[in-house]
Order: sequence, then structure tokens, then C-alpha cells
Amino acid sequence: MKLANRLALITGGGRGIGRAIAFAFASEGASIAVAARTRAQVENVAEEVACEFGVETLAIECDVADAASVTRAFAHTSEQFGGGPDILVNNAGIAETAPFAKTDEAMWQRHLEVNLTGTFRCTRAALPAMLERGWGRVINIASIAGKTGAPYISAYSASKHGVLGLTRSLALEVGAGGITVNAICPGYVDTEMTSRGIENIVAKTGKSADDALAVLKRSSPQNRLVTAEEVAALALLLASEEGRGINGQAINVDGGTVLF
Ligand code: NAD
Repeated sequence: MKLANRLALITGGGRGIGRAIAFAFASEGASIAVAARTRAQVENVAEEVACEFGVETLAIECDVADAASVTRAFAHTSEQFGGGPDILVNNAGIAETAPFAKTDEAMWQRHLEVNLTGTFRCTRAALPAMLERGWGRVINIASIAGKTGAPYISAYSASKHGVLGLTRSLALEVGAGGITVNAICPGYVDTEMTSRGIENIVAKTGKSADDALAVLKRSSPQNRLVTAEEVAALALLLASEEGRGINGQAINVDGGTVLF
């Protein structure tokens, strides 16, 4: 078991990529705390994972855009497990599209608050226990939009570029303390976030859903969406002992869409 005796806290773990990571980590023996806004979804994941793998789990309702909510989530986790997480996966994220002229300040702030400041907040809450223990993993689910740009996603892309800056700087700062900090940069993944993107393309362009999906697939040389399980497989490597030499990296899981 690669993650025996490890506790992982996964934000946005109620569905999609976060859910797949919860399953992958639990299958290797980790205890799992899933934190997201929708109570019913985190409760489902915690229950399913506990039933399937027999590991200890905790479902936490948490909004990473709310500092007090994050503080409560980490306090609750420490109470239940007798300490903070060994592995933190900053996965909670939002993605809205708009031409720049229609990207108002509220939309801009939402993306920074959830995607970037949420990552900062949870990492600050998790680090002290990792440093004390001399072991830790911080895994930030960024995006290839954190490395390159695309029309209509300036707020999302800026927030994910910020996540990579945070990842790289923190990795250098805490590397000597037995902690690695890395980012995963997926291309289009087959989750609700992408389904909503397709609905949006349909509404704005009049394309059929199949045509919209085909456009997204063609952005990858593999002409397909990535699966949440493929992203989770990389997260598992980064979380494990074998991944200890990988630090400060931003690794694409995108079929080759972005080559840097
Ligand atoms: P999803 O919409 O299915 O899941 C997102 C999760 O984040 C949900 O559980 C949601 O409740 C949670 N969340 C959103 N705002 C939150 C908040 N304020 N506090 C706590 N939880 C919150 O999307 P997904 O595809 O699973 O995305 C997961 C991560 O992967 C995101 O950070 C996203 O930006 C990134 N990503 C997704 C894709 C893609 O194509 N789907 C591509 C690249 C990167």
C-alpha cells in the first residue's frame, strides 16, 4: 500500500477529478477527508470510499473562498484524525468564460478567490503540521490554461498561472523539509466542468453538443478528453514515496496539447 498511514485532504472532492483522486488514494490505503461546498456530494464520496476500501473518511462542507470555512475544515480534520493532512490536494476550482470586455470585476475576483487564494489558504493551513512532521505533499490541480492562454478565459487562466507561481516558489522554500509541492495541468477532462463548457458553447454559438465536444477533443493531438482517473494516477505518483524527487513541477495531462 503506497499511502498506508497517510491522511489526504482533497478540496472539491465531491465529484470529477477530486472524487477520482479520493478513490485512487484510498485504494492505496490513505485515510480521506473530502471537502467541498455541496454536502450531499462529499458525504456520498466519503461513504463510497469507506465502503469500497475500508479506510477512515471524513466529509466536510467547506468553501475555499471563505477563510473561516477553511479554518473550520482543518480544525475538524485534526480533531477527527488527531493531526493535519499529510497530503493536501488543492482541487476545488471554478471556470467561467466571457470575452474580456464582459469579464467584470466580480467574475475576476471569483476566479482569484476560489482557484488561487483558496489554494493559498488551504496550503497555509496544512503546512505547519507537514513541516513539523518533516513529510508532506501539496498537489495543486492547475490547468494547461496556467501555462498558456486562450480566448474568453482570461480570469480562469490568470488564476491558474498564479497557482503555478505559488507552486514553484513554495516548492523551493519547503523542499528541504521533506515536502514536495507540485501542480498537475490537465487539458479538457471528462467532468461536469467540461459538460458546462459544452453547454456554454452550444448556447453562445448555436453549434450542436456533439460538434462542440468535437472541437474540444480536437484541441488534443489524441483527439479525446482526458479522464479524471488519468489525472488521479499522476496525483497518486506525486503523493507516494516514489514521487519524492518530483518537486516544483507543473506536469501536463493533456495528450500533448501543450508541449512545455
Ligand atoms: P467539477 O466542476 O466537476 O468539480 C469541481 C469541484 O470543486 C466540485 O466538487 C465543486 O463543488 C468544488 N468547488 C468549486 N468551488 C468551490 C469552493 N469555493 N469551495 C470548495 N469547493 C469548491 O470540475 P473538475 O473538472 O473536477 O475540476 C477540478 C479541478 O480541475 C479544478 O480546479 C479545475 O479548474 C481543474 N481542471 C479541470 C479541467 C476540466 O477540463 N474539467 C481542466 C483543467 C483543470
